[in-house]
Amino acid sequence: MTDCIFCKIVAAEIPASIVYEDEDILAFLDIAPTNQGHTLVIPKLHVRNVFDATPETLGKMVTAGQKIARGMQEALSVDGVTLVMNNEPAGGQEVFHAHLHVIPRFEDDSIFVKPKHTTYEGEEMSMVATKIKNAIV
Ligand code: AMP
Ligand code: ZN
Repeated sequence: MTDCIFCKIVAAEIPASIVYEDEDILAFLDIAPTNQGHTLVIPKLHVRNVFDATPETLGKMVTAGQKIARGMQEALSVDGVTLVMNNEPAGGQEVFHAHLHVIPRFEDDSIFVKPKHTTYEGEEMSMVATKIKNAIV
């Protein structure tokens, strides 16, 4: 897709520090890492995010993410990893070519702010569950 920065990385039109590549997937270091080694896993074919990606594409992204997580465990001695996929602006997405963040984590690195929590009243919890359940195709 023209004007997509990640498509340009796939086409080698702009540089990236590649850590993993196969037929369908490319993974490279995030230019503004939350911890050093922070990696982005993308499908080579342009899709926007979780809403339009096929299950096969998402599966390949997660499978590559697992390989990279294991590589980080070995190479960087991480204590853990966080896998994140932001989808649409409300979900924190800023680059609109699907990507999975694989973020090295270390005990007490405190790189994420603690999320806010809300509550359910009365029947709300079962109503919300039913609504989502009935909409899944
Ligand atoms: P998101 O908010 O999930 O859309 O994250 C987009 C990520 O892409 C951010 O963490 C950016 O630092 C990263 N990013 C943007 N441009 C580049 C680039 N040219 N090379 C590597 N990472 C990039
Ligand atoms: Zn793209």
